[in-house]
Order: sequence, then structure tokens, then C-alpha cells
Amino acid sequence: MRKLLFMFSTAFVLALAAFIPKKVSKSVELKAQNPNVIVIVADDLGYNDVGFNGCQDIPTPHIDRIAKAGVVFSSGHVSFGVCSPSRAGLLTGRYQYRFGYERNPLYVTADSTMGLPLTEETMADVLGRSGYNSMLVGKWHLGAHKALHPLKRGFNEFFGFLGGGHQYFPENLTLQNPEDANGEGESYRTKLNRNYTVVEETEYLTDALSREAVAFVERNKQKPFFLYLAYNAPHAPLQATEKYLNRFENIKNPKRRTYAAMVSAMDDGVGRVLDKLKETGQMDNTIIIFLSDNGGPVSDNGSNNAPLRGQKGSVFEGGIRVPFAMQWTGKIPANLTYDKPIIALDIFSTVLANIQGATKPKNPLDGTDLLPYLTTKTNKAPHDFLFWRMYDRGNYAIITKEEKKMVVLKDSLYLYDLKKEINEKTNIIDNEKTLADELGKARTTWEKGMIAPTFLGLTQAEEYKKLKGVTVKN
Ligand code: CA
Repeated sequence: MRKLLFMFSTAFVLALAAFIPKKVSKSVELKAQNPNVIVIVADDLGYNDVGFNGCQDIPTPHIDRIAKAGVVFSSGHVSFGVCSPSRAGLLTGRYQYRFGYERNPLYVTADSTMGLPLTEETMADVLGRSGYNSMLVGKWHLGAHKALHPLKRGFNEFFGFLGGGHQYFPENLTLQNPEDANGEGESYRTKLNRNYTVVEETEYLTDALSREAVAFVERNKQKPFFLYLAYNAPHAPLQATEKYLNRFENIKNPKRRTYAAMVSAMDDGVGRVLDKLKETGQMDNTIIIFLSDNGGPVSDNGSNNAPLRGQKGSVFEGGIRVPFAMQWTGKIPANLTYDKPIIALDIFSTVLANIQGATKPKNPLDGTDLLPYLTTKTNKAPHDFLFWRMYDRGNYAIITKEEKKMVVLKDSLYLYDLKKEINEKTNIIDNEKTLADELGKARTTWEKGMIAPTFLGLTQAEEYKKLKGVTVKN
């Protein structure tokens, strides 16, 4: 009977195949199988500065669309509390401590060690081998040397700038080339680049980045793509146009008002990208992820990490727990909140696990495919432990699957129960000696796979001068 059924169905499939047009292009086949990937990164956005995390004074209706259509990770973390190491972790899917990436680099276009080492592959490298077209729009911050340029790191297209931030108004972009800037601050004034070409930009930076992202989505509707949309908003300098400032006349604090305007501009941009996906029929076949690269630097840009303790640069939650949402229509249930701890390193693993025929990355990834945790009723946690280290300060953090967190500040140990107190208030280490010992051992084991920082950071210009004889401004 089974054999008969098989013969019958084989005949049926063959008959059906005769009616299917033979000329299906390769790109269309790929698209039918593999989803597009859009990773949208905000810069220095506070945990409480998006609608989906409860923000009251800055509406983010478009970013919230991603959350509503998919999952909010209420305990979504990044792998470091400042920009550049966090991005190194995100794009490689690996604890960046493994390759000594633990500082914001100095901006030195002549130094090829100042950025993401060539031993590492990015998501764009691996997706590129699987037929994806990849573009970085916005902030790179993984090295200003030509060997570390995004077009050398898997991206087919680039529109943006190489440093860790930028001036938002085009009239402030007075330096012609990336090499004309000495140090990070000056790099903010370099003209934007399209691949290797200098751009004469006329729009407010956030609007320009949104425009380029939308154009890329439009251009790639026939083939799978990876768009890394790395806004520098709402990172300082605090600059916004009247169009966005006018939306926040109700906010009296000028810093918070400008910050709100910058977040609102970004939110508009996210809306334009989502609308373009819808218009081109790609919404259902696109994995969309939104997160911030680190917690808000509250005193610096007027951001709000409530109810978390600490801010950008800290191993407390305010430094490393960020707004984090992911949408994949039909694969991830809508309106989901996922509370177990996850980390930005999971993005690469999740994407890779859901791409047909993907080639393996050169180096082992540290993340986990999150899809099974979002689509089944398993209560298992994606990670037994998550780890952080700040080498220069002697600080560490470890979060367990039960959401106990150990914080090490040099020689002082603290233990918190995040489930009971998200704001890391009561140190319970005296009641949890056994757990503290266990976490100490777990940290020692983990750290064996990590190395010391390989390059000097933004605050170490003096040491750099002594070492290399080169004066680099901050
Ligand atoms: Ca940042």
C-alpha cells in the first residue's frame, strides 16, 4: 500500500512539475527559502526609552511595531557596556573578550590593530557566502584602518562613517576624508562615505541613514539581504532639527527634549523601513531585530534606564540590559514577552540556524538559536550563565539561568536576585555562599578562553603616544 502510494505521489509530483515554468532564477529560489535579516541598532538608548518598555514621554510607535509583531526580550543584554566592544560581540556572535576587544578604540586610520581583528568573521562574511547581499548603513566603530573597513568585513555596500559617533548637521561635516581626522572627536566631522566615495550630504544625519536603508530594501527585493542599520542616534552630540524638536514642547528639560527628538527621528526612520518592507512584500520573510548597543549614559544624553541600576559603561543592568525586540512573522508569535536572560551574541546564532545551506562560521559562536525558546513551551533557559568583564576596572558580572547575578568590583563581591529586585539593591551574598563559590569557579573556567585587551582605548592616548610615538586626540 505504502509503495503504491509512493508511486502515485511520485507520478503526481512529476505531472505537476511539467506545469511549473523551468526558468526560476537562482535569486528567487534563494529568497523563497531564506529570510532577509535587518538588525537595527540604536546608540546609547536607555532601557526605558521605548514604548514597549514603558516609556511615557517619547512615543516610539514604529519601533513598537516590531515588538508587537514579535517578541520583547525584557532581559535582553549586550556583551559589553560601551559601543565598540558591544558591536564586536554583536557582529561576530562571540564574546569579544576572546579576541581582546574590550575598549573603545582610538580613531587612528594608520593603525590596523585598532579595531576588529582579521581573525574574526562577521555576520556579513558568513551570510555573504550564503548568497546574501549585505549593507552597513551608519556607524561602524570597528576600526578606521583601510584593512578593517566594512567593505573588507563582509559588507557589499556601506553608507556612513567609520568612528564612534558623528555630527548630525551636514554643515558640520567639514573634513573631506576619514584620514583627515586626528582622533575620535575630529572623526565626527568627516564627510559621509558611500563605499569609498565622499558624499556631499544635505539631510539631517538620522534622516539620511533612514533614506539609505529604505533604498537598500527597495534595491534588494529580488534577493536575500542583510541590512545592518546602525544609527548613531541618540548618542551625543545632542542635535536635532525643528521638525523633531517641535514634537516635544511638553518636555521642559532641554537635554531630554533634544534626546527625545533624536529618538523620534530614529523611530520615523524605522517606520520608513518597515513600510518599505510591507510595500515590497517582504515583511513576512524578514527577521527584524531592534536593540541598543549599551545602556543609556543618563547624565550625558538625558536617557532613562529606569528601573535599572547604573548606566553606560557599567556591569550593572543599566549598562548592559537594553531595549531588545525581534520580529519574524509566522515564526515568532506576536505580542510575546520573553523574560529569561539572552544576549546580543544570540542574534548571529539565531539567524544562522534559520538559513538554508548556510556555511559554517570560521570560529565557534557563543550564542544560541533563540527560536526554539520562543516557539515551544519549554521552560529551559537559553543560557546557564552569561558573562561580562571590564578588564581595565577589574569588574565582572555573571547572570545565571535562575537570574541570580554576581557582580565583582575589583575585590568586592555582590550577589543579587534579579527576579526579586531588578534594580540590584540588596546584596544577598552572605546567604548564598555556595552559589557565590560556584559562580567564582564558573567565571574562572570561562575566563580561560578569554585574552587581555589587544589595543589601547580611547582614554589611553597618552600611553599610545609613549608606545607608538604618535599623538592621537580623543
Ligand atoms: Ca553606544
